Amino acid sequence: MTVSGDWLLFLALVVLVVITGAVSVYALFRLRRCRRSARYLMSALEHGDDDAYLSADRTRLSEEHRRILDTFQHRLVGLRDRVAGAERDSDAALSILSRVGDGVLVTDARGNIVLANRSQLERLRLSEQRVIGHSLIEVTQDHEVHQLVQECIASGVEQRALIETEPGRRFVSVSAMPSGADGGCVVVFQDRTELRRLEKVRRDFVANISHELRTPLTTLKLLCETLSDGGLDDTAVLAEYLSRIGVEVDRLAQMVEELGELSRIESGQARLERTPVRVSDLVARAIERLSAQAVRSELRLELDVAEDLPEPLGDERRLEQVLVNLLHNAIKFTAAGGAVSVRAEQSGDEILLTVEDNGIGIPEEDLDRIFERFYKTDKSRSSSGTGLGLAIARHVVDLHGGRIWVQSIEGRGSRFTFTLPLTSTQQ
Ligand code: ADP
Repeated sequence: MTVSGDWLLFLALVVLVVITGAVSVYALFRLRRCRRSARYLMSALEHGDDDAYLSADRTRLSEEHRRILDTFQHRLVGLRDRVAGAERDSDAALSILSRVGDGVLVTDARGNIVLANRSQLERLRLSEQRVIGHSLIEVTQDHEVHQLVQECIASGVEQRALIETEPGRRFVSVSAMPSGADGGCVVVFQDRTELRRLEKVRRDFVANISHELRTPLTTLKLLCETLSDGGLDDTAVLAEYLSRIGVEVDRLAQMVEELGELSRIESGQARLERTPVRVSDLVARAIERLSAQAVRSELRLELDVAEDLPEPLGDERRLEQVLVNLLHNAIKFTAAGGAVSVRAEQSGDEILLTVEDNGIGIPEEDLDRIFERFYKTDKSRSSSGTGLGLAIARHVVDLHGGRIWVQSIEGRGSRFTFTLPLTSTQQ
C-alpha cells in the first residue's frame, strides 16, 4: 500500500513535470510564433505593404498587440496619404514654377538658395547644382538684389526695386517677399526691358511727331502773319507766299499720309494687293514722277533695267512708293551735276532693285539706324522730309518677303538695294 502510494506520488510528480514541460514548450513555441508574426507584420508596415499586412494571419498575436499594431497601421496609412498629398502639391507648384516666364528664387533665412525655377536658371546661365545651397550674392553677383533680400528677411516685409542688370540695356523688376514661417524669402525677377523699350518708343514717337509738325506750322504761321501785315497788297509777294504755303501744306499732308500708312502696316491692317508686277513699268512710272525734280536739281537720271525680267508677285502701288521714296532721297541728297541711277536685274530666285547716287552719303554710325522711323542723319536734319520714308519702305519690302539694305560712303554716295522673291514657277 505504502509502495503503491509512493509509486503513485512518483507517477504524479512525473506527470506534473511532463505536463509543465509540455506547457512550457508550447508556450515557448507560441511566443516564438507570435514574435515571428509580429516581426513580419512590422516589416510589412515598415515597407508600406498594406496588402501583406492585412492578409497576414494575425490570430497568433494577442488581442492587445493586435489592437496596437492595427492602430499603428491605420495611422501610418493616414500619414502616408498626407505625405503623398503634400508631394503632389509640391510637384504641382514646382511644375507651375518651372513654366512661369518670370525667374523665381527661394532662399532660407540665411539667404542661401533652396529653390530656383527653370527661367531663373536659364537667365543666370547656371546649372541647378551651381545654384541650390549657394548664397544669393555668390549666385547673382548683384549687390542690389542681395540688399533687397536682406531687407526682406530682416523686416519680414515685401521689398521691390527696378534694377538695371546690364546698365542701360536690361531692366529687371525684382520683388522679394517673405516665404513664411521659415523666415526665408521668395524672390521674383520680371524682365521689363521690352516694356521700357516700348515706353521709350512711344515717348520718342510723340516727341518726333510734335517736332516734325512744329516746323511747317511755324512757317505757315509766319507766312500768314506776313501776308496779313500788308503782304496781300503786293501781288508778286502774294504769289510767292501762296506757293510756299502750298509747299508746307503738302509737307503736312505727306506726313499725315505716311503716318497713316505706317500705322496700317505696323498694326497688321495693311493688305497687299498682289498681282504679277512688270518691273520695267514700275521703274518707268517712278522715274516719270521724279524726272521734273531731277531736272530742277540738275541731276542725270540713269536707267538700267534688264529685258524680260520675270514678274514677281507684289502690290504695285506700294512697291512704286518704295522706289519713289528711294529716288526722292537720292535726288534730295545729291548736289547739282551729280547722277542718280536705277537698276533692276534678276539674281537667282529674286529680283534686285538698286537706287544709287553720288551724293552726300551716310555716316557709317547712322547706317544701322537709317530704317528706323523718324531717323535722320545730322546733315539731313534741316532738309524737308519726315524720316518716315525708309521705315515704310522696309515694312513694305518685309511684307513682300524681300530684304532691303544700304551701302554708303560719306561724301561719295549711297546705294539702296531691295529684293523681291520669285516663286519657283517664275524663275
Ligand atoms: P526723309 O523723309 O528724311 O528722307 P527717310 O526715312 O526717307 O526720311 O530717310 C531717312 C534719312 O536717311 C534721311 O533723312 C537722310 O538722313 C538719310 N538718307 C536716306 N537716303 C539717303 C541718301 N540717298 N543719301 C544720303 N542720306 C540719305
